[in-house]
Amino acid sequence: LGAGGRQRLVILGSGESGVGAALLGKQKGYDVFVSDGGMLKANYKQELIDNGIDFEEGGHTTEKILSADEIVKSPGIPEKNELVKKIRAKGIPMISEIELAYRFKGDSKIVAITGSNGKSTTTSLIYHICKSAGLDCALVGNIGYSFAKQVAEDPKPLYVAEISSFQLDDIKDFRPDIAILLNITEDHLDRYDYKFENYINSKFKIIENQQQEDYFIYCLDDEVITKHLENINLQTNPLPFSMRQELNKGAWIKGDQMMLKVQEERMSMSIYDFALKGKHNQYNTMAAGIATATLGIRKERIRDSMADFHSLEHRMEHVATVRGVEFINDSKATNMNSTWYALESMRKPTVLILGGVDKGNDYSEIEELVREKVKAIVCLGIDNTKIHEAFRMIAPVLDTDNAIDCVKQSFRLAEKGDVVLLSPACASFDLFKNYEDRGKQFKDAVKEL
Ligand code: ADP
Repeated sequence: LGAGGRQRLVILGSGESGVGAALLGKQKGYDVFVSDGGMLKANYKQELIDNGIDFEEGGHTTEKILSADEIVKSPGIPEKNELVKKIRAKGIPMISEIELAYRFKGDSKIVAITGSNGKSTTTSLIYHICKSAGLDCALVGNIGYSFAKQVAEDPKPLYVAEISSFQLDDIKDFRPDIAILLNITEDHLDRYDYKFENYINSKFKIIENQQQEDYFIYCLDDEVITKHLENINLQTNPLPFSMRQELNKGAWIKGDQMMLKVQEERMSMSIYDFALKGKHNQYNTMAAGIATATLGIRKERIRDSMADFHSLEHRMEHVATVRGVEFINDSKATNMNSTWYALESMRKPTVLILGGVDKGNDYSEIEELVREKVKAIVCLGIDNTKIHEAFRMIAPVLDTDNAIDCVKQSFRLAEKGDVVLLSPACASFDLFKNYEDRGKQFKDAVKEL
């Protein structure tokens, strides 16, 4: 126990989620200590100071950490971290920030969204529909605002939460009323001992504590998901969505109509009226439709909100059309699957910008689409060897190492009626701070044209 006989809560890592957990812990009467191996961002540091929370940065004091009754581990810290190993060896309970938030959320409901791709888009769309329908709710989680902090500072009856697999790894009781699993494709395998199975299990933890009165919304066209479902005993109400089959319940696409049925009432809507374009977004929109219908929102409201939603920055974002050439910023596409969907949705000849830091990409996954749609590839990265090897027989491939040159070269290769698509299939940190920085520099360079 810590000061005054209070439970001692140690928070490892002090980014958005760590600081959020610290604030909530402090408010709920824990003796809180925050430890970060790196340096704290100024705003987070100030928040800790303002709230009288004890912390250290630039290194961990092992004894202080091992004296905890419970530890909240930030999602960024891997299991193989030496300190984590010591904590595990000592048997101190370790949870994630969403577990702490869950513990104190009271009667509020949670819609939790996970998947390899489309989380932020779907989370934002659900939030938009809920807000438009007048529900008192908050947008939390991976999308940028700590769930725990929201619970501490401004509790709401409904939380729409984007949940990563790292957050799910350390839950205990976390139980969403509505869980959404969009898709599962290989990603982050470095954190899962390079075993896809481990990553799948981690995603499925989103329904681990669900009960009969809860709902599980998932993609029926995703074979990884359906195969896993064959082997588990589902406790909750399944509400699938599909583009390939008509269903009794859930959402599906028939011709150019989306059909939605949760209770007795049916709703249909033309996919051409969806604000979010592209096949992948039809999946995201169906998932959002089921979730909001389950919350009891009226179908007219759902329909209107699906039509007037503005897509998020850096995700298939229309930047500008310059002399007949359309520029699209999909900088958030940091893996093959995202780029596959982006390319799949192209209806015009495309100059594709690829490259950056590759997390083990197999470029053959997009080979067919490249043959069909891409007239040239412009690399934006330091080491582009794999991209050259994969595509040099199919399309011209050229190298650039900054956004301005990249946009200029792409524009030169494009003709009126073409698209220039930044959907790199790679992380950005060889040349940029992050994907936002990459997307922003791309947009600035387009504006220069
Ligand atoms: P996340 O939050 O899961 O990273 P985003 O909503 O930010 O996902 O979208 C990231 C990228 O993934 C987008 O740029 C888009 O190209 C792609 N994407 C979005 N939804 C899907 C989906 N349902 N299936 C596959 N790819 C998708």
